[in-house]
Amino acid sequence: CGIVGYIGNQDAKEILLRGLEKLEYRGYDSAGIALLNDGELHLFKEKGRIADLRKEVDTSVEATAGIGHTRWATHGEPSQINAHPHQSSTERFTLVHNGVIENYQQIKRDFLSEVDFVSATDTEVVVQLISNLVEVQNLTVEDAFHQTLKELHGSYALALIDNTNPETLYVAKNKSPLLVGIGDDFNVVASDSMAMLQVTNKFIELMDEEVVIVKRDSVTIKDMDGKVMEREPFTAEIDA
Ligand code: GLU
Repeated sequence: CGIVGYIGNQDAKEILLRGLEKLEYRGYDSAGIALLNDGELHLFKEKGRIADLRKEVDTSVEATAGIGHTRWATHGEPSQINAHPHQSSTERFTLVHNGVIENYQQIKRDFLSEVDFVSATDTEVVVQLISNLVEVQNLTVEDAFHQTLKELHGSYALALIDNTNPETLYVAKNKSPLLVGIGDDFNVVASDSMAMLQVTNKFIELMDEEVVIVKRDSVTIKDMDGKVMEREPFTAEIDA
């Protein structure tokens, strides 16, 4: 199981698929990618290996932002519906998650009793809660993401896309690995640096519960109190 994300100037599709192939060793029963192109989201997910997903991806879709996931199911059987990325009911928000949200039932009861869930995963509450905070409570996306992290108990590496804002990926981790890869006019995120060596060997380490705003030309890291954290990238001397 693992996640990848890309935002920049190249075709995201191939970078995400190759990244997922490098993450397959972490476990796999299904996989998916979401590609954002001109405000239009293209979602592909399949049960099985990345090779199975590859066959389903429409090669004509060009996108400069996207997220991907290889799943090792903990909540909900391996199936196409339970495969990530997951979307809010409005389809504005799309999310990948690696880990386990321990209090997902509680979050459903407390905040999302009106929402129709489509999957059996623990993950779907995360994207539905963010959507609810933005579209019902009128929070900004960053505040909604931050607020949602405060509610979560468990482990996560998360990457979120907002269809109405193709310039930004929202990213966070807690007790699951996640790194940012720094490129020239693009940035990537992944569970393991191996998944990013195809495009960069410069990385920024993330700490648990930070809110990370990734754009093609910037990475902003904030702590749980909203304070901006300065952190220099390091260069990894490893062969892909
Ligand atoms: N708990 C999530 C699920 O079952 C994510 C599993 C994973 O890390 O792949 O869908």
